[in-house]
Amino acid sequence: MSKQTHENGFDLLLHPSTNKSTAFTLAERRELGLQGLLPARVSTMVGQKRLVLESIRRKAFDIERYIALRALQDRNERLFYRTLIDHIDELMPIVYTPTVGQACKEFAHIFRQPRGFYVTPSDRGNIRQNLDNWPESEVRVIVITDGERILGLGDLGANGMGIPIGKLALYTACAGISPAHCLPVMLDVGTDNEELLHDELYLGVDEKRLRGEAYDELVDELISAIQDKWPEALIQFEDFLTPNAYRLLNRYRDSAFCFNDDIQGTAAVALAGVYASTRISGLNFKDLRIMFLGAGSAATGIADLTVEAFMAAGLSREAAVSRLTFVDINGLVVASRSDLQEHNLPYAHAKEEMGFLDALQAIRPHVLIGATGAPGTFTRDVIETMARINDHPVIFALSNPTSRAECTAEQAYSWSAGRAIFASGSPFESVELDGRRHMPGQGNNVYIFPGIGLGAIACKANRISEAMFLTAADTLASLVDDAQLENGTLYPPFSEIREVSARIAVAVAEQAYKEGHALLPRPDNLDAHIRAQMYDPSYENEEKSL
Ligand code: NAD
Repeated sequence: MSKQTHENGFDLLLHPSTNKSTAFTLAERRELGLQGLLPARVSTMVGQKRLVLESIRRKAFDIERYIALRALQDRNERLFYRTLIDHIDELMPIVYTPTVGQACKEFAHIFRQPRGFYVTPSDRGNIRQNLDNWPESEVRVIVITDGERILGLGDLGANGMGIPIGKLALYTACAGISPAHCLPVMLDVGTDNEELLHDELYLGVDEKRLRGEAYDELVDELISAIQDKWPEALIQFEDFLTPNAYRLLNRYRDSAFCFNDDIQGTAAVALAGVYASTRISGLNFKDLRIMFLGAGSAATGIADLTVEAFMAAGLSREAAVSRLTFVDINGLVVASRSDLQEHNLPYAHAKEEMGFLDALQAIRPHVLIGATGAPGTFTRDVIETMARINDHPVIFALSNPTSRAECTAEQAYSWSAGRAIFASGSPFESVELDGRRHMPGQGNNVYIFPGIGLGAIACKANRISEAMFLTAADTLASLVDDAQLENGTLYPPFSEIREVSARIAVAVAEQAYKEGHALLPRPDNLDAHIRAQMYDPSYENEEKSL
């Protein structure tokens, strides 16, 4: 932002993209009209970062830490991102899962400063015009939710805005998408959550959810408005209830530059974990039998991508599908059931109806993946059965936040006598068992979506294909080293996330060129082209443009 756009120096302190607060140098203070507005001593970003960490660590609760970090994001963007990037292990669980779950529940009560763009049913006919109110001219990534299935927490209505805000903070921190290019969108169509409807402080539309044709028309108008205003923007659908998640993905995947993170991002991160697990178990990927507990968007997305992966490994579609089984709240998903949703049908095998434990014993999966939102569903019996069937039972408890996980890391390791290869959706501490330290992997979508987004926008892709997620999964799995596998970790450490995202981005862009989906003429050095676009916050860079 140039200084000419500011009426006076004080504006620079008010805008998060220009504010350096006490780090404005004496020369800048003179030049920019900041004299008298700041204490005498000039700080550095390093010193400011220390203060941020000190004050964050002093707080007693993660939700307080979340509030403080969000406030910093609204006050001084570069300092927020520098701190987040440099301390991603410590701060990711605050900025995103699990703390973001609580932040969404309390969204209205901890609301300080608006961020993002809201669309409500009363905006019908005006969405395109309203987009012109957004202050940034170039938007490249948009995350949209309607708040109906926030993590495993259900319908949180407009409180779900915490999710697009958090995801986009991760796009910036993990893949270097400039904050100016990111737009969180809340499609606020009301809520069926009675508690929120009775909360006088709730900030969303306080009516029952809009559904049916009127809902579809509103989404259509929003997507067309985005395509008109920012034709190059990637749209990420996030935390929609499963039937809508599938419907919207199927409706727009061939006509818009979009993907659904819960379906496709989850799929790629889980598949990467499965690939990496075979390096520990020694099993051949295409021989695996995989059972899912939960048959919603997350589990089905993983299955759909795994079918593609099995086929790429040489199996027929039929053989690939036969290796995947689902158990949902009503038991094994089989053809004779009349309560199945459309996305379940390809996996409804001609088998007898039975409960979870019986299904485990009958099918003897190598890999068990939980995506239920139902905590404790991987009981001791379940884990012990998996450990009886397998030398290295692969157990993924993906439900978020931590309180919803199907089992804890400690349970997985102790009930399998330390043999489980375990990953979870939310973070768990390492577990010491019989003198051995087990490091659970976190199958967090953050390993995938920032890299997909960076790669896709860097080559100006116009579609996101399944093959891009396959290549992302492959790349991610290849980045886990043997020492990490030795500790039982299936994913690289978060401290390497920017490198992971860059490598995934290159692979995804390569794939886009292969498929003819990339509109940018191919740069000579794709890797360098992508890395050069990554936002790396520092005051020094900004000084040049001030
Ligand atoms: P969903 O509501 O579409 O599906 C939930 C499924 O679980 C349904 O099939 C339901 O029948 C089944 N289920 C519920 N309770 C059950 C029980 N007690 N026993 C057996 N099955 C049960 O939800 P979704 O979008 O698929 O998400 C599910 C969970 O996955 C959420 O907690 C979400 O946070 C998590 N998730 C994790 C990641 C990740 O870690 N990378 C990504 C996306 C979603």
